[in-house]
This record gives sequence, C-alpha cells and structure tokens, in this order.
Amino acid sequence: MVVQKFGGTSVADPEAIQRLIHIVQTARSRDGRGPAVVVSAMSGVTDALLGIAAAAGGGRLEDALTRLDQLRERHVAAARSLAPEQAKGVLGRQIDEQFDDLVALARALAVLREVSPRTLDVVASAGEILSSRIVAAALADAGVHSEWVDARRAIITNGDHTRAVPLATETEAALRASVLAAVDAGRVPVLGGFVGSTVDGHTTTLGRGGSDYSGAIVGAGIGAREIQIWTDVDGMLTADPRVIAAPRLVPHLSFAEAAELAYFGAKVLHPSTVERNIPVRILNSRKADGTGTTITAEPPPATTPLTALACKRDVTVIDITSSRMLMAYGFLRRVFEVFERYTTAVDVVTTSEVTVSVTVDDRRHLEPIVEELSEFSQVSVDHEMALLCAVGDRLRNEPAIAARAVGVLEEVPLRMISQAASRRNITVILRQADLLHAMNRLHEEFFS
Ligand code: ADP
Ligand code: ASP
Ligand code: MG
Repeated sequence: MVVQKFGGTSVADPEAIQRLIHIVQTARSRDGRGPAVVVSAMSGVTDALLGIAAAAGGGRLEDALTRLDQLRERHVAAARSLAPEQAKGVLGRQIDEQFDDLVALARALAVLREVSPRTLDVVASAGEILSSRIVAAALADAGVHSEWVDARRAIITNGDHTRAVPLATETEAALRASVLAAVDAGRVPVLGGFVGSTVDGHTTTLGRGGSDYSGAIVGAGIGAREIQIWTDVDGMLTADPRVIAAPRLVPHLSFAEAAELAYFGAKVLHPSTVERNIPVRILNSRKADGTGTTITAEPPPATTPLTALACKRDVTVIDITSSRMLMAYGFLRRVFEVFERYTTAVDVVTTSEVTVSVTVDDRRHLEPIVEELSEFSQVSVDHEMALLCAVGDRLRNEPAIAARAVGVLEEVPLRMISQAASRRNITVILRQADLLHAMNRLHEEFFS
C-alpha cells in the first residue's frame, strides 16, 4: 500500500481534485487496498490565512473579514462542484462551521491586537482541515470508500507552535488507530498535512511546506510500501525552475542526497522512512503517467557528475572573531550555546584559526545573539547573502568534480566554502547579487 501526498496546486480547484481522484483510484485498483491520502491546503490558502491573522491582529478587521468571505466562497464552490449532495448537507455545514470559527477568531484577534503562535496555528491549520474534508467527500462522491481522518488525532507533536516536531511513539500509536485502522477496514483515509496537535490537544503545525513531512511520517508510521509526493513539476529537477530556465529531471536520488537537499525546501524524508527503506517518489499530478523521481537507499549510478543544485536566498552570515580562540578549547561551545539559547538554527559553519563564520536563516533573534556574542568576540553581520549547494554521491569518489565546480565559479567572490565529511555536498556562500550568475554557470557546466 502507498501513501499519496498531494501539494497545494494538486488540490487547487475542482479540476485538480478530479485528477487526484483518478490517481487515487488507479493506486487502489493496483494495490487492492489504500492508498492513504495526505493533502495540503488548496494553493495560496495558507498564505491567505496567515495574512488574515496578521490583518486582524493589526486591527484591520474589515479587511480580514472580506478575505475570509472570499476564502469561504472558494471552498464552498469547490465542494458544490465535487460533491453537490454533501455540499448541501454535512460537508456544507462543516465548511460553514470552520469559517464561522475563523470569523470569531479574527474578531478576537482584532480586540486583543496580538497573534500568539498558538492562535496562528489554529488559523493556519484550517486550510488543510478544509481541503482534506473536501477531498474525502469528493472521493466518496466518485465511489471511493473514503474516510476523513482528523490530522490533529493522527500526528502528535511537541508544543513548539508554528514549527512543531512530531513525537515518534505517540504519533505511531495515533496513526495505527486512525490511518491504518481505516486502511484495514478497506477505506481510503484522507488527512490534512502540515497539521498536528500536542498531547493535550492544542493544534500545532509543522512549519511551512510541512505537508511533505506529514506524508513521510504517515508512510513511516503505517509501514507503507512507497510514499508518493504529487506536485506540479515532473519530479526533482537539477535546479529550481524558478531560477534556472530549463532544468532537467533527476530520475534517481539517494536518501543521502535527498537529505543534503532537504534544508532547502522539501523535507520529503523522515528518519524512519530511511531506516525502513521506504522509497519516495516525486510525481507530476498533471502528468500521472510520468516516471518522476525515485528516492531510494541505493539508486543506479548517476549519469551526470553532480545530481542537483540548490540555493537559498536571504541568508545572513555572522563572523565571530576572537584572538582567544587561538589554541583555546571551549570557544565553539560558547558560540553555539548562544544560538541554542535563542533556538536559532545554523546552516553552514566554517572556521579559521581565529574566526568562526556561520549562516542563519531565521533573523528573529539576531539582535540579542549578536549582543551576547559580542561579550567575548568581535562580531560582524552580512545580510543579503545566498547559499548555493551542489549535491551528488559521485563527489565522494571523484575529487575532480569538486575542483571543477569551484573552478567554474572562479570570477565569483565566494564568502565561505564548505564540504563536510559526507562529501556529497559542496556549499558556497556568496552575495545574493551573484547567485543567478553562479547558478547558471554551474548548471551549464554540469547539466547541459
Ligand atoms: P507543492 O504545493 O506540491 O508542495 P511546492 O510549491 O511546495 O509544491 O514545491 C514544488 C515547487 O518547488 C515546484 O513548482 C518548483 O517551482 C519548486 N522547486 C524548487 N526547486 C526545485 C527542484 N530542484 N526540483 C523541482 N522543483 C523545485
Ligand atoms: N499548506 C502549508 C504551507 O503552505 C503546508 C504545505 O503545503 O506543505 O506551508
Ligand atoms: Mg510544498
């Protein structure tokens, strides 16, 4: 049995959901059971909900209410088109209740003039709750024996709102009782991705783009044969198509390569999917007969020297310099303790004898971090930097590839260069203004 996760564009409107139904039916008739279906919010809905919360919290209640009306209309229209009878009955009432709750919440936020992470999660979760209800009803209307599963009862997390982390034991038990039970009863469970709840029932979310991770968690939890990530491109491409004009499809990727690419976006792996060796496939929901990308432990050898490029903008570089670091121990610990205290993740680290350079994504606590670091070192901060990373298993055994990659960038000023012991990944930090040029140079060199 497979887990099928559908992203925002794959549930964006009734036509997209019709394609989803066809894909689910095909899997069901092939496997004779399942699949388990995980869906994102309809495209743009999470952004809209977060904007509505911000508007209400900022006192712009009318604006928030108008936008809620538009969202309600979009969901009601999809429900009517896909499951007309249910839209008149239970499904219609569920959608209305969800939006009535959101209106009440918006009013409360406008009075309180503040939006806590806990409230934000309740608002943001509505997108996946709604889309999953509509998809479950649409499947039923098409004759598929579906069952809506409340993600808040299936994915149990810690209380770190807006970027909660699933609790392994609790989630596995919850998934067995909900998703697996539905499959065993011959049904197709449908749940929202991105959403979970704490042990004491507070709604949480897993961070932006978190539905991929939900798909992986469900797949691991129920021991799926395969996890399919259905999206709007043909699979994993050699580079972000919004950056490079014509990237190529990557047919195979190893778990290790996918993990190296994970912090740039899609978190399609979960430690247990790797442990249990569950293949992940990335497929285009508009071209269901495509071959997509298959991620496995030991893929066939790559035909290109590198497998893919990835980049990240808006990176901040912090240089921490101290003469005390010279031949001292304990300096790195002091540095990283500061980042830990402010729960700020560090992406790339390079060190010289007297300077540690790190990059961070999350600038929320930058000020106090810099202040504390300044107590024992000189600190300088550079914004508008970018991170570019080249990934490929072949880097491990073919040292010339790394030299060639850095050589191609000879006229680009590189701020940091990092290759860790895994040797599947070379990462460079450069000015954001140089990113496009550098990406194009590398892509041309290795993929055209
Ligand atoms: P979904 O809603 O299905 O989760 P996302 O928008 O989150 O889809 O992710 C798919 C998008 O990721 C693609 O449309 C593409 O623009 C972007 N993307 C960035 N880098 C890559 C890459 N290397 N390969 C494929 N897609 C990529
Ligand atoms: N809907 C959520 C988001 O937009 C989660 C996801 O789509 O993966 O971030
Ligand atoms: Mg996504």
